[in-house]
Amino acid sequence: MPRPVFSRRLLRFLPMPVLAVFTGLLAGLVAWFILDYFQTRAVRTIVEEELASQVDLQARESLLRFDNYIQSYTALGKLLANHRNLANYLEPIYWQEEKNIQVKLTKISPDWLPNTPQWHNLSPPSHLMLVDSRGHLRELYQVQNLTLPTELRSNGEQLFPRLQETTYITMFNGNPFLLVSEPAEDTGYNIMGTLVLLTPIDESFLQKSQVSPAEANLIALLDNEGEKVLISSHLNRLKKGIISPSIEQRYVMRSQSFIEYGGSDLNLLFATLLPKSTLQNTVNRMIKLERKQRGYGVIFIILIFTLLFTLVSIRLSKTLRRISRFSQRALGIKKPQPKKGNQLLLLDDWIKDFIIQVKLTRDEIDARYAIEIKNKELLRSTIMDVSPDAIITIDAQYRIIDSNPTTEQLFGYQRAHIIGQDVIALLFPSCATPFTQLLKTQDAQQKRLPIIELQAQQANQKLCPVELSIKALKLEERLFYTLYIRDISLRKKQEQEIRSMAAFASESPIPVMRIDQQGLLIYANKASQSILRHWKIQQMQKIPPFWFYRASQALKEKRLIEAELDLGEQLFSLVMAPILDFDYVNIFARDITEARLAQAQAQQNQTKLLHVARLSTMGEMAAGIAHELNQPLAVIANYANGSLRRIGNTENELTHPLQQIADQAQRAGDIIKGLRALVGKQEPVRKIVALNDLLYEVVLFLSLSLKTEQIELKIETPTSSIIQVDPVQIEQIILNLLRNAMDAVKHVKIPLIQIKTEETAQNAIFTIEDNGKGMNAETLKQLFHPFFTTREQGMGMGLAITKTILADHQGEIKVNSVVNKGSLFKVFLPKV
Ligand code: ADP
Repeated sequence: MPRPVFSRRLLRFLPMPVLAVFTGLLAGLVAWFILDYFQTRAVRTIVEEELASQVDLQARESLLRFDNYIQSYTALGKLLANHRNLANYLEPIYWQEEKNIQVKLTKISPDWLPNTPQWHNLSPPSHLMLVDSRGHLRELYQVQNLTLPTELRSNGEQLFPRLQETTYITMFNGNPFLLVSEPAEDTGYNIMGTLVLLTPIDESFLQKSQVSPAEANLIALLDNEGEKVLISSHLNRLKKGIISPSIEQRYVMRSQSFIEYGGSDLNLLFATLLPKSTLQNTVNRMIKLERKQRGYGVIFIILIFTLLFTLVSIRLSKTLRRISRFSQRALGIKKPQPKKGNQLLLLDDWIKDFIIQVKLTRDEIDARYAIEIKNKELLRSTIMDVSPDAIITIDAQYRIIDSNPTTEQLFGYQRAHIIGQDVIALLFPSCATPFTQLLKTQDAQQKRLPIIELQAQQANQKLCPVELSIKALKLEERLFYTLYIRDISLRKKQEQEIRSMAAFASESPIPVMRIDQQGLLIYANKASQSILRHWKIQQMQKIPPFWFYRASQALKEKRLIEAELDLGEQLFSLVMAPILDFDYVNIFARDITEARLAQAQAQQNQTKLLHVARLSTMGEMAAGIAHELNQPLAVIANYANGSLRRIGNTENELTHPLQQIADQAQRAGDIIKGLRALVGKQEPVRKIVALNDLLYEVVLFLSLSLKTEQIELKIETPTSSIIQVDPVQIEQIILNLLRNAMDAVKHVKIPLIQIKTEETAQNAIFTIEDNGKGMNAETLKQLFHPFFTTREQGMGMGLAITKTILADHQGEIKVNSVVNKGSLFKVFLPKV
């Protein structure tokens, strides 16, 4: 996860309310600056516009005042002109000759002037002039110490006649003057002359024209171009002449045309100048005031909003913390730690973390899912491949889409051949109805699939019994069916076989029974009737306790138990075979009446055989003893006879005992001779027999002993040689060799004796091999000597007799032995 940048980390630890205060203040300040910038500009424009109109208003006011002021002069002129004294004064002048008119110049107030002239409030005129009715200047009263303008002096001739009742501003000598002329009338309204007031328009004139002019304001008269100042109300600030740029910088100027003053031919302009600094101050003051008020408003709003933000964020913070806690708990995240700081960012972090976790988990799930799908696919294909059932997928139109290898084996079609084919037409032409019926009952939700048996048709047109189950499945709204087809031909065959096997048991001539673990007879075939009669029971009844005990023992010990059942005429050997999986015991009864008779016969044979063996042993012994005794007896007889001869014919007390010794020795010799003759050679018996029969006879005879001693005996008789022998004697040889072998394997772990037959052109051969103790060289040397034995009970005559019998039959015996490995005796007998 990337480390958050420092600012974010810092923000995370700032609680939301603090952040809200900061944000609120910051937003307020930014808003304030932006607002202030535009508002100030707007206010400035408004104020300036307002001021401009104020300036216009003031300019108009100034002009009106100026105009009123001028009207005051007109009124004054009227007042003076209409004064009675003036008309009276002018009367003689009116009539006076025009010639040599002398202008009367005076500097003191003339009589025709009222005592209290009104100009105390006005700027006093420089000159008062009286002009007669014909337009000639008659009197000049110089009010101020100012010379009459030259234009008036020189041009008065033209000027004065024009004078009428008029007021106008004009220029004399480059200076502006107000000229007021008023006709003076007598009582009969005859114009006696004209009073002319000439007032220089100077600084004080202009100042007085304004009732209470603002100190800072200036007024001025400009030329008709508006470029040149003719006179200003404050010459120290606004000098005469061309308006300097500095004036334009410092003042706002409004120039207006005068209202026409009668007779003036000059188009002068009246200018009002307001100092810009004053205006600026006003503007600034207003802006300041407005800003102050705005400031209070903004601060108030910021405070309100900050408070509101803070409250909301406190609430939000709590809610977010709760959401974090709940969602963490809901998502099973252990012990969610309540964290301090900015809950929104913490939640954001947490959500990011969670999203990463989810993404990782999703990736993991995807990967696992992919593996799972792969595995499933592998499993599916493996299952499909190795399934003993034919698996076919078809669509809703019964067209084959997919099939597994078993399908090919079962039906004999190549996969490529059947894809796209109609499954009914191809595989179930004879069972279309049950097939479609089964198909229609299927839907995708069904869990247990019904199975039906059908006859399917193979590629070779053979019918094969199958079990069919159908599973419907819906993929993207399309319906598919998977058919599971199991070849049951083998099972059918087995069932048939089982049925026939069952019949086999019931038809068996051997009694077959089955009992359960309670000893209840569940089954008994026909041949068992004699046994059931003897037991006095029927099926589903308990067998007698003794037999139940043996059966339970077989079950418990998990082995076959055999016991004999004597029915009087018949003797049965009952074999109890436990069926462990089902806790049954099967009882097979073997009729051993015959076998027992044969066994008794064999027993007799064995006794006979043993007797013969004993006899022949005795014979050999007797021959041996006779041979050994003959010598000493002959010597005794010889000595006795010699002694008699020495004594001669003279009888003494020794003659009779010596004669007795000689006679008895002779007699003993004869007895021995008789005995030898008794056990000695008899007419040999010869019968044509099969060697194998003799071998099997002896093996059967010994089978019980072999079993009890748990010796394994293997007999292989690949040849079937016929020999002409004394069967009893040959059986004696076999019996002797087998007994020796059984004795040799006594202490061997897995005792084994093997009998094999073979033959050559002349001889029938049998070998008896054991894996017993074997013989050393010493033993081998004396093996066939009479009375040689290593056994406690042994007589040491067995092999000696064997050799003698074989010699009688033109046969021979060979031996091969290794100590602790075993011995092999090979017997050769001439074939017939
Ligand atoms: P007996 O069996 O009475 O001892 P035999 O003549 O049959 O007389 O045997 C002589 C001896 O030969 C036996 O005591 C035994 O030592 C030895 N012998 C015979 N057959 C075997 C054999 N298969 N394995 C080992 N020793 C044997």
